[in-house]
Amino acid sequence: MSLDLTFLGTGNAFAPGGLCWNGFLVDQRYLFEAPPQALMSLHRVDVDPNAIEAVVLSHHHGDHFLGLPFLLLHWKHRGRETPVTIVGPPQTEQLAREIGETVYPGLFENEFGIEWREVTAGESTTIGDLTVEAVAVEHDDRLSLNLGYHALLAGKPFAYTGDTRLCDAVIDLAQRADVLVAECASRDTSIPIHMNLVEDIPEVHAALPPNSKLLLTHIAPDVETNLPRTIVAQDFKKYTF
Ligand SMILES: [Zn+2]
Repeated sequence: MSLDLTFLGTGNAFAPGGLCWNGFLVDQRYLFEAPPQALMSLHRVDVDPNAIEAVVLSHHHGDHFLGLPFLLLHWKHRGRETPVTIVGPPQTEQLAREIGETVYPGLFENEFGIEWREVTAGESTTIGDLTVEAVAVEHDDRLSLNLGYHALLAGKPFAYTGDTRLCDAVIDLAQRADVLVAECASRDTSIPIHMNLVEDIPEVHAALPPNSKLLLTHIAPDVETNLPRTIVAQDFKKYTF
């Protein structure tokens, strides 16, 4: 079985150059991150939002999380009938309810059902044929927890760093993945809570198994690379592995 990754956005928190905020679909059914424009991007790539089986969140920064109320709004008013699973760090449900109920009162009075699964480092959870194992990464200590994920889709291993600086957990993610989606928030600017292209990504690349692929996201427009087996993801593009 192939692994399809469709990027709903690839930009860092500042949406530089008009990039959409970072998030991607796995096999058209599993949504990693809920960037603010997630609903718009799903329409743009012609995926029915009601077909999303799960949302997997890495952390609660707004560029990764604030699209959830719009998805919930669509699901409530546009005919969703099947349950959705929302995976994320501790406090995901509480935060989503506080924000969602504030901006769209009644948002959580729905018929389809939400299963919340809050995970901490080392915990695994399975939704359909997707299994994710959370790992703690190093990003913003003021948030409840910052996660990356090892993942298996029908037995095919891939991984996602979430937002993080270069740390042992990222190297471990790289070593076990056929495909690694890694954040790369800048070209050569050193940001303490992020990885950059020039200093950090070569180390991540060196940790990959020989035939594994690296996709860079959460980028700025000046992130370009000649590293082998490496792709700078583009908004609304689908990559098949
Ligand atoms: Zn972040």
